[in-house]
Amino acid sequence: MEYGARSKTPKVKKGESFSSGSSSTVIIGHGLAGRETAKMLLASKADTSITVIEANDYYESDICGPKSLSSPSLYTKNFSAPQYQLAIEGVEYVTAKVLDITKKEGGDGYSVKTSTGASIPATAVVVCTGFSSGLIKPAVGSLWEDRKKELDEHRKAIAAADNVIIAGGGAVGVDINGEVLGMLKPAGRITHVVTDTVLMTPRHSEEERRLVTERIEGFPNVDVLFSDRVVEGGGKDAVFEEKKKYKLKSGKEVVADVYIPAFAVFDRAEFLRSTEGALAPNGRVAVNKETLMSDKLFNVYAVGGCADNGEMSSIPKIEAQAASVVKNLAHTLAGGEPKHKHREGLPWMQAEVMVPHGDWGMVAVDGVPAVGKACLRCLGFPLPCLLGPCVAVCGVCGTSCKRPVGSGPGGFWQFALNMGPFGPVLGKADKKRQPPAQNEMKRE
Ligand SMILES: Cc1cc2nc3c(=O)[nH]c(=O)nc-3n(C[C@H](O)[C@H](O)[C@H](O)COP(=O)(O)OP(=O)(O)OC[C@H]3O[C@@H](n4cnc5c(N)ncnc54)[C@H](O)[C@@H]3O)c2cc1C
Repeated sequence: MEYGARSKTPKVKKGESFSSGSSSTVIIGHGLAGRETAKMLLASKADTSITVIEANDYYESDICGPKSLSSPSLYTKNFSAPQYQLAIEGVEYVTAKVLDITKKEGGDGYSVKTSTGASIPATAVVVCTGFSSGLIKPAVGSLWEDRKKELDEHRKAIAAADNVIIAGGGAVGVDINGEVLGMLKPAGRITHVVTDTVLMTPRHSEEERRLVTERIEGFPNVDVLFSDRVVEGGGKDAVFEEKKKYKLKSGKEVVADVYIPAFAVFDRAEFLRSTEGALAPNGRVAVNKETLMSDKLFNVYAVGGCADNGEMSSIPKIEAQAASVVKNLAHTLAGGEPKHKHREGLPWMQAEVMVPHGDWGMVAVDGVPAVGKACLRCLGFPLPCLLGPCVAVCGVCGTSCKRPVGSGPGGFWQFALNMGPFGPVLGKADKKRQPPAQNEMKRE
């Protein structure tokens, strides 16, 4: 599909009850949050047209991001797909980057300005633009073909590197560390720069943080530099430059050929900057935590990684947010106030449950309620407990009931990822759907 072209595929089926009523809802971004919101809004039969504006002509699963680096053959097959294969019937799609949102003069609603020069009218806007993270999240406004080439180049550079710096010691940094370790040449090294005194964040228990730290420090070709940060040479983007010098806060200097940032950057809702207070100081969309509506703009909502809603960005949380926003849209599109009070998805989930590191993994169970803990511990076995999780007849196989750490959880996670299509977004891809232009040609 020509980048920037306006695509209307697929169209509403003849006889479908969904109507393009007097109101219009624009959803910005078609990642997990945007697709989920569009799907639920369509299913709600709200009297609104739905337009999704997405900057990239493809979807890439960020969960699979570190594996996309190490597994080129799986990237196209299981970890990414062209956006037209994920399009929902009844929703209009526009391929463009949103640059600005302005209030319509003398009336309700907004004008959404895009990189193609279009001004799309909207009664309501749902911002679903996620967050940026160096190498493992693609640039906003990129093409699938270019991304594939870019990843190939990055893989080659990592494989040839004498030293790779990874900046950030949370779950994503640990995940990237494991994948890069498997890609290095025998003499290649990793310098992992971590701000805290141990890996992972305080959202995990001390015991779990110790387990991960011991694992990574145990590799002879990995140097973990704790209580430090890169202050010169590397920022929010990955750097591929041979023998480049990086300065750390401690005064140390590290020479590396590749720098990979492993932290989230909230720079994708800049189009709201013209409205004072619409963005929180951290760059996320400032929303009322009960209604998920913008603090400053009526009928503008935010879902997912871009929203400052006090929740961690994860699939169950995003699904619950999308459901709440759709319920509130039902009130506000009809001229009322947002009445529905949002309830967080899986409130006990305050940290990443799965922490992968190459073919090793840890199911973080310390924050999980007792019943769930029993279920998750069954993943210590290469297969879930054959007696049935939660039956509480553990111990027979010899590995259930133990802390789920090691190749069992690692293998299970790899299996789940490599199943790709089983994911919440890519699982819905219609691999047989042809690009829109070809559809039109066929019709002629
Ligand atoms: C390495 C990693 C592992 C993870 N593991 C897990 C896990 O195990 N379990 C879990 O639940 N969660 C996990 N997460 C978190 C979860 O995957 C993300 O929070 C979620 O995918 C974010 O979805 P999103 O729709 O908010 O953002 P995204 O998926 O980033 O989608 C945003 C979309 O908006 C588009 N966009 C951005 N700006 C614009 C613009 N101006 N105009 C038009 N379009 C725009 C982008 O192109 C993109 O397609 C993980 C995340 C990472 C990075």
